[in-house]
Amino acid sequence: MNHCAFCDPSVIKKQGVYKNDSVVVIYPQKPIIPLHFIIFPKRHTQLISNLTDRESVDLKNAIAKIFAVYKEKEKCIGYNLTSNNGPVKVGQTVAHAHVHIYLRFEDEKYSPYKIMSDSSLKENLSAEQWQQQKELSSTLF
Ligand SMILES: [Zn+2]
Repeated sequence: MNHCAFCDPSVIKKQGVYKNDSVVVIYPQKPIIPLHFIIFPKRHTQLISNLTDRESVDLKNAIAKIFAVYKEKEKCIGYNLTSNNGPVKVGQTVAHAHVHIYLRFEDEKYSPYKIMSDSSLKENLSAEQWQQQKELSSTLF
């Protein structure tokens, strides 16, 4: 059987912070910035362009929910979305359609793009910080 991390119930159990009818939101194992989430359809499909109309709407609604919560609670000013679709050569390392959302703040030290281009800027969370951030997000959504 083909192993897909985003079809693995143990991944969703450990990292899941929110779900609606057809979409799941998880907290990444190694977030680029503390408020980074991954959104994907429950159904396995490789490309965002393969989403059903329902999945597309649920994906948009999950994005809106995340932004609304952090705009209210943490004065988030906006967000970036990234999604790689295709073979590893184009950057998709998990072959299950997904979108990364990075929440942005007026007073942030570095943009997620700057950190992605210079990994020495990345502040790795301890296991305890990771757990706290994941649990806080779960309660907010
Ligand atoms: Zn999958």
